[in-house]
Amino acid sequence: MKIGEAQQSLGSPVTAPVYAGIALSASDGHTAAELLRSGELALQAAEEQETPGYGFFNPDIAQTARRRSAVQRALTEALANETFRLDFQPVYAIRTGELSGFEALLRLHDPELGNISPAEFIPVAEQMGIINRMGGWCLSEACRIASQWPAHIIVAVNLSPYQFYSGTLIGDVRQALEQSRFPSYRLEVEITEGTLLKDSELVLHQLRALRDMGVAVALDDFGTGFSSLSYLWKFPFSKLKIDRSFISALDESSSARGILRSIIKLGHGLGLSVTAEGIETTKQMSTLRELGCDLAQGFLLDRPARVTDLAAIILRNFANGLTRRQPKSAVSAAKDLAQG
Ligand code: C2E
Ligand code: CA
Ligand code: CA
Repeated sequence: MKIGEAQQSLGSPVTAPVYAGIALSASDGHTAAELLRSGELALQAAEEQETPGYGFFNPDIAQTARRRSAVQRALTEALANETFRLDFQPVYAIRTGELSGFEALLRLHDPELGNISPAEFIPVAEQMGIINRMGGWCLSEACRIASQWPAHIIVAVNLSPYQFYSGTLIGDVRQALEQSRFPSYRLEVEITEGTLLKDSELVLHQLRALRDMGVAVALDDFGTGFSSLSYLWKFPFSKLKIDRSFISALDESSSARGILRSIIKLGHGLGLSVTAEGIETTKQMSTLRELGCDLAQGFLLDRPARVTDLAAIILRNFANGLTRRQPKSAVSAAKDLAQG
């Protein structure tokens, strides 16, 4: 059992969140040591819940804990051996079909576990306290690679909230730009609304510093978090990235179109450019074009690509540009791209 930090201010009641993990003899262990271990795992699982409470041990908890320690081991080794990799997913301007930039996406391949999704390993790295080192590496590597591209193509790097709490973010960004002599106006950072929830003054201060350096700030996964409108005008964003759940909803829900239209109008009203991500069908693409969305990213256009494939993507876009007599719609550009 664990009693959390008591919160007390003068004259107000003390609240102490209590978590408990319960293991039963003999199903959850035959020896005292085994039972204690099962109880600890049940406690850990209870602590991960949003509200304080208790939880019983079950075999799934043990399986989750085993998987987590395997991912921890894979992360530790990848950090020591420098075997992380960045892939890059193209982002296209919808009106012209031109390549606008790439989003850097972190990859972890483990000899035993195979490819591990960042959706799984990023939260583990955050818990382990190594996300800041990994994030610093991503910034340097993304700027180094992007410095080889034509000067109009930008690179976007995802930031974890923990990078803002570490105090080294601004220094890491500055170092990444300087080391590869990469101009700040070609770097964009992507943050999610979750980043703004805690210590928002501290985060705001750093976002302003980034903007002052010339780095663009995009609000990622827009619509999935709290989507508080106050974030949009209080924080210095340059772009909204609409979460892909809204794009896929276009196929199923008649209200999705109206919601997307409103989000795009809202972004434009605030002077932001708007990206739709997770575009998988030509129908989604044409709807977004009709709604005046600015930028497009998704499997329809290109999947995240290896660094070695980027030159071909850039050249293909350049060739498309040369043969384009009139600005081509992204729908036809998408068709060309899909046909390779
Ligand atoms: P995200 O920032 O929303 O990244 C976009 C994710 O959507 C990527 O998954 C990408 O492969 C996927 N995606 C792109 N187009 C489509 C599509 O048309 N359909 C579908 N179904 N998916 C599409 P990925 O690479 O697995 O990344 C997952 C998440 O992991 C990212 O979501 C981001 O939150 C996090 N992540 C990735 N790289 C980094 C990083 O370097 N640092 C941090 N802090 N987080 C990262
Ligand atoms: Ca992102
Ligand atoms: Ca996203």
